[in-house]
Amino acid sequence: MRALRSLSLALDPDWIDFAVRHVDPTFSLTRTFARVVEIRRETADTTTLVLRPNRRFRGFVPGQHVPVRVLIGGVVHERCYSPTSEPHERTLAITVKRQPSGTVSRWVSDTAALGDVVEIGPAAGEFVLPPASTTPLLLIAGGSGITAVWSLARAALRRRADADVALLYYARRRADFAFARGIEELSARHEGFRVRFLPQSPEDGEVAAGRFSEAHLAESAPDWAERDTFLCGPAGLTKAVKRHWQSAGLVHRLRCEAFALATSAADASEDASRDTRGPTSVSFRRSVRTALSSAPTLLAVAESAGLRPPTGCRMGICRTCTCVKVSGTVRDRVTGEIDSAAGSRIRICVSEPLGPVTLDL
Ligand SMILES: Cc1cc2nc3c(=O)[nH]c(=O)nc-3n(C[C@H](O)[C@H](O)[C@H](O)COP(=O)(O)OP(=O)(O)OC[C@H]3O[C@@H](n4cnc5c(N)ncnc54)[C@H](O)[C@@H]3O)c2cc1C
Repeated sequence: MRALRSLSLALDPDWIDFAVRHVDPTFSLTRTFARVVEIRRETADTTTLVLRPNRRFRGFVPGQHVPVRVLIGGVVHERCYSPTSEPHERTLAITVKRQPSGTVSRWVSDTAALGDVVEIGPAAGEFVLPPASTTPLLLIAGGSGITAVWSLARAALRRRADADVALLYYARRRADFAFARGIEELSARHEGFRVRFLPQSPEDGEVAAGRFSEAHLAESAPDWAERDTFLCGPAGLTKAVKRHWQSAGLVHRLRCEAFALATSAADASEDASRDTRGPTSVSFRRSVRTALSSAPTLLAVAESAGLRPPTGCRMGICRTCTCVKVSGTVRDRVTGEIDSAAGSRIRICVSEPLGPVTLDL
């Protein structure tokens, strides 16, 4: 009996992980761990970590993102990052812009060291090139949004060396353009890859490009309406570009990726007024658990009930936490939409219950 127990313990993947990770901290039979093998400063506030994942990593498609889990002060924090390495490389690079009060981005910038180990999840996301398309591309990046856009540019030129790709790249100052040299080199090698760096603030007597405007399109991609357009940047840039495409009735040709949500005082006061509602019950069908909705989102309620559903950005962008709502009415805190349909798929990180809800979790 004792021998049987020892054997089953020895065959338990978690126990094997626990034992072997003392020797190799990236070893796991069930999880993807990666070691920091190189650190590069791209700009004053942007850092690339080159990671060597264990054999469990299944790769990514350029433009997708991966969830990265980091242990900081004894607490695991998870954030999404768009890989900046090539998909065929054995290492995986993420490039992170330091946010002044950010938890994970400051760790990457200030603390991460060679040999550190992080956990990564499977790549996800729809911000990818359409398969086998020859339509000219317009790529628009602002700030850290260049990570996903730079991946798309290289993927398009790898697919077809003569691809027609126009890039508009916005940043505060000249020194803030990450990957500037790589972008220029690629543009010099590929005639069809035309790049415009657009600094917001004037320096050394040069005229600032200012914010996104029709003039930028007219100069760099006058045929913008015929191009498949991919946009990744801060909320202000996204809003301005979307408005332009909407007024031309072409918003269906614009693909957007956001790294952060725009928040407003109006959202905050709306949240405060919602918080006066009483708690309601939330049931988790597969886990056979029920909790009171004492937290604002269904994700937070699930976690307070001891569940650990998969999560990514935790702000309604990456869709990692999407799950089936078996029954009940919820409000999407980002779009304001109310959903009462049975069996709909909802992002639990931004959904709040408006009455009893059952989730397939
Ligand atoms: C799909 C996806 C892909 C992403 N890819 C990248 C990437 O390649 N490179 C990268 O640097 N970031 C990327 N991000 C953003 C990243 O996931 C983190 O949100 C960011 O690094 C900040 O995390 P933090 O823990 O430092 O900040 P937090 O502790 O979460 O937040 C601290 C403060 O910073 C603000 N903040 C958070 N994120 C941003 C942001 N992106 N811009 C402006 N303010 C912000 C918050 O509002 C808050 O006030 C991506 C996000 C998503 C959803």
